Amino acid sequence: MMHKLSVAELSKGLKNRDFSSVELTQHYLKRIDRSDLNAFITVTEDLALSQAREADSRLTKGDADVLTGIPYSHKDIFCTKGVKTSAGSKILDPFISPYDATLSHKLNMEGMVMLGKTNMDELAMGSSNENSYYGPVKNPWDKKKVPGGSSGGSAAAVAARLSAFATGTDTGGSIRQPASLCGITGLKPTYGRISRYGMIAYASSLDQAGPMTQSAEDAALVLNIMAGFDDKDSTSANKDVPDYTENLNNSIKGLKIGLPKEFFSEGLDDSVAKVILQSIKEFESMGANVEEISLPNSAFAIPTYYIVAPCECSSNLSRLDGVRYGYRCDNPEDLDDLYLRSRSEGFGEEVKRRIMIGTYALSAGYYDAYYLKAQKVRHLISEDFKRAFQKVDVIMGPVSPTPAFGLGAIKDSVSMYLADIYTLSANLAGLPGMSIPAGFSNNLPVGLQMIGNHWSEEVLLNAAHQFQTQTDWHVRLPENI
Ligand code: GLN
Repeated sequence: MMHKLSVAELSKGLKNRDFSSVELTQHYLKRIDRSDLNAFITVTEDLALSQAREADSRLTKGDADVLTGIPYSHKDIFCTKGVKTSAGSKILDPFISPYDATLSHKLNMEGMVMLGKTNMDELAMGSSNENSYYGPVKNPWDKKKVPGGSSGGSAAAVAARLSAFATGTDTGGSIRQPASLCGITGLKPTYGRISRYGMIAYASSLDQAGPMTQSAEDAALVLNIMAGFDDKDSTSANKDVPDYTENLNNSIKGLKIGLPKEFFSEGLDDSVAKVILQSIKEFESMGANVEEISLPNSAFAIPTYYIVAPCECSSNLSRLDGVRYGYRCDNPEDLDDLYLRSRSEGFGEEVKRRIMIGTYALSAGYYDAYYLKAQKVRHLISEDFKRAFQKVDVIMGPVSPTPAFGLGAIKDSVSMYLADIYTLSANLAGLPGMSIPAGFSNNLPVGLQMIGNHWSEEVLLNAAHQFQTQTDWHVRLPENI
């Protein structure tokens, strides 16, 4: 039953020596071994046990940090020294990282235990985890449904309690949407809050790492370790890291919540709308004030994002050329053949589609019409939020227009892109966003999205924690867990 405990509870249990980190790690490894969700690409059993032994010795000596000995899983987009780092792609399937991402290094320094690397949509492109080279992940609430993406493996692992928490990355919703579809808590911090060094780049001006946890309290504990300036990442913010657990218990009386009318229009599933409105009532009963707001440029988030992200990915992924590292085709005839076949054979369909769109949009004749235009609209989207945050503290709405959909149910890319309608704006504006479990629709979890102003993670975590002291959605578990 150890797996039912939160990170906060596990940390206490380890300190009191109710159980050892080795026992806890073995417990999770057994659960992973028995699971049929396909949540992991790599399970690092030996490494985990040696990290757990190390953690136990720190714990017995009394020089443990807050999260020493806690087992977690890492999205397979973070470079981990000596361990395969594939980003869900065939092209990186042979890649053993020679170094640790800053985030991995920080978790190691804390003395945490890495159980393995989680499955994901190839190179973080997707909303269902069906784009993974390693096959789709199943949603623990209904194995015929998707877990969301691109951090689908991390979300499924936490929802099925195969891991105390997991890391994720969110370029356009990849922490929040799978968190919503799997019924866990996911936080995408402000752009620049967590170092991107060693995190395989998708769209550099949008990518941000964050914690995927059972609760807001756990997210605060983990963010404390993840956040901070890194001189290896020129876009990481040189800004103090507060103790994110400090204000969790503040009252939210008087908190101003804005509901963007554009987030409740057609396309939103009725049953999802019902859950969201019900959870807003809960906030009102805790003393928050709710008002309708408008984010008039929301409708442009999808077209804007699906120009900016492919442009940046077409540039970032040019380094995967079959020469430096990763997959190389057999018997290339010459250099052109080597590039052509390594990339054609190594990348999957969706990634190729985006590389082509991005390369086209960035080409000399089209740059102004697409990329530059998209950057201008991006600015307008940011301005909408700026105006809104003059009036309200937090913006709330749905994360995803529907609960988890069927595996194989969405076949064309454009319909899949619609799943991101409510999440993309926060990335385009660099704002922190969160998904917290808020209820169910036909036995499938539904997440509430909260978007805050830049650097207001504490406000989001406080509101989410207060909601979780009044509700039990976040501790409900799928059957047979
Ligand atoms: N679903 C979006 C996409 O496919 C977002 C992915 C992400 O946040 N990494 O690009």
